[in-house]
Amino acid sequence: MRKITKYLFILLIIITIILITYLGYNQLQKPQLNENELLQLIKSNNYNIVEQIMLELTDDKYAGRINGTEGNLLATLYLVETFESIGLSKWDANSYEHPYYDNASNVVGVIEGKDKTKAIVITAHFDGIFNEGESFTQGALDNASGVAAMLRIATNLLELEEQPETDILFVAFNEEEIGLKGSAAFVPKVQEYYSEIYNINIDSIGLKDVSYMFNLTNSMGEHSKVLNQELLEVFSEHGIPYMEYSFGVMSDNRSFLINNITSMPITQDVEIIKEIFHTQKDVIDIIDIANIEKVADSITEFIIISKGKMY
Ligand SMILES: [Zn+2]
Repeated sequence: MRKITKYLFILLIIITIILITYLGYNQLQKPQLNENELLQLIKSNNYNIVEQIMLELTDDKYAGRINGTEGNLLATLYLVETFESIGLSKWDANSYEHPYYDNASNVVGVIEGKDKTKAIVITAHFDGIFNEGESFTQGALDNASGVAAMLRIATNLLELEEQPETDILFVAFNEEEIGLKGSAAFVPKVQEYYSEIYNINIDSIGLKDVSYMFNLTNSMGEHSKVLNQELLEVFSEHGIPYMEYSFGVMSDNRSFLINNITSMPITQDVEIIKEIFHTQKDVIDIIDIANIEKVADSITEFIIISKGKMY
């Protein structure tokens, strides 16, 4: 009998050790916040930054943010102010404003990560253009929507008050519409600074019930394919419709790709958006604010659950 009791005692100790080890391990493996906690936090955003940015950037005083105009300069200053007021830090300069050769500026901010040798670069251009024969565009879809989504991602991450795994850069590019000039000037600079980076570029989103485009083939390189697939999983969980494509998206993502940096364009069905952008149809009334928020929150969630993984 005594022997059995002894064995039972030893067994109990072993089980206890296994349980403690398992629970401890689980605690370590657990993401700092689970999805519900994250969503709750995102919903608790006490001001609606997407709506605020959309209303502001489509206002008449910016006159479509056309390159070389006062409206474009005014939009630059507004973004500098916004980057500062939401609490982004300056990146590699004394200012959020990063002028380049063309007498124009990008606007850059950062959330510093634990590992400062790597960065996720979230980008959206803020300049506008309109087709010949069109008198005016608000540039709501193209691309106030992308800037609004980018800044919602920034506020989501800032409100978490947890240092991300890597640096996360936020860049509002200028002069996308006249040859990707802002991104062409910026990408070599950011490439010099980090050993590993990838880009998520947001351009023309927020149309209700219109599919988002994902490249699930090898046409943009193996790493982009993985990034596309893993981001799509999060989009699908949130019920965002998607379509597959296999051609090159023409936006600032090109400036990353030509420098061999993985880049993922976030945009909607090109057949639908091409009828709208650069025309008078591109007004704030066609935009679904909730759609932009859902996409921004999905990208935020992806950044958190991917835990600093590089693609
Ligand atoms: Zn655009």
